[in-house]
Amino acid sequence: NQTLKNKRALVTGGSRGIGAAIVRRLASEGADVAFTYASSPERAEETAKAAEAFGVRALAIQSDSADAEAVVAAVERTVAELGGIDILVNNAGVLALGPIDDFKLADFDRTIAINVRAVFVATQAAVRHMKEGGRVVNIGSCNAERMPFQGGGVYAMSKSALQGLVQGLARDLGGRGITINNVQPGPINTDMNPDAGEFAEMLKKQFMALPRYGTAEEVAAMVAYLAGPEAGYVTGASLTIDGGFNA
Ligand code: NDP
Repeated sequence: NQTLKNKRALVTGGSRGIGAAIVRRLASEGADVAFTYASSPERAEETAKAAEAFGVRALAIQSDSADAEAVVAAVERTVAELGGIDILVNNAGVLALGPIDDFKLADFDRTIAINVRAVFVATQAAVRHMKEGGRVVNIGSCNAERMPFQGGGVYAMSKSALQGLVQGLARDLGGRGITINNVQPGPINTDMNPDAGEFAEMLKKQFMALPRYGTAEEVAAMVAYLAGPEAGYVTGASLTIDGGFNA
């Protein structure tokens, strides 16, 4: 299935977890893929090798999404080295949980910088280079619409912000034939949210319609759909893939 042949993609936070699965999936469909990471060069190397095994170009770029200049530099390097950009996947994100009385302003600012500001900055830089058919996909969260436990207010806010962002930017980009959407996962087994321990059991028992965690590959499949040619009529949308967490 070479649906994305000759496409050039950038995935932020592609070294591990959901982002790495997205890198592999886009590569498997024939896209050349650049991706960023902040602090895991070995994991980035592994992901690049896995992508190259599909016969495409892969490029790992160290770029901290908390730094807006580094985000723009990653987009520009992708354009320079892959010859353009057709697909941007804003996946890098952080989860800071804590009760209102103790929540640190530094954690609030870091959450906004990585989960929201970097999405805007990367999108602004990328769409300058995108042609008709361009695609922007953000990884939001089902918590944008439901946050049923304590300590998650700031994370939920950061993901809700992406809903308004894509609704508005869909209007800016529609006339140029570029779509922008969110994919909103529920619990997915990654380093951020391991499928082990009391928290995972509580989620599965109390909140899920399907009593299991999802896989990064399941999320990557929805991203590949939105990134592909068949999704040209989907824009400004937030698509949930959450095992019924929000049902
Ligand atoms: P992980 O923590 O497992 O992986 C995060 C990835 O993002 C890593 O590749 C990491 O790179 C990168 N990253 C983190 N911070 C930065 C940064 N400052 N700059 C650049 N890259 C960074 O997370 P997940 O795969 O679970 O999550 C991916 C996205 O999915 C996030 O936006 C998250 O909010 C969202 N999500 C996850 C859910 C889940 O249950 N797992 C549920 C709903 C949404 P490095 O290795 O260098 O640290």
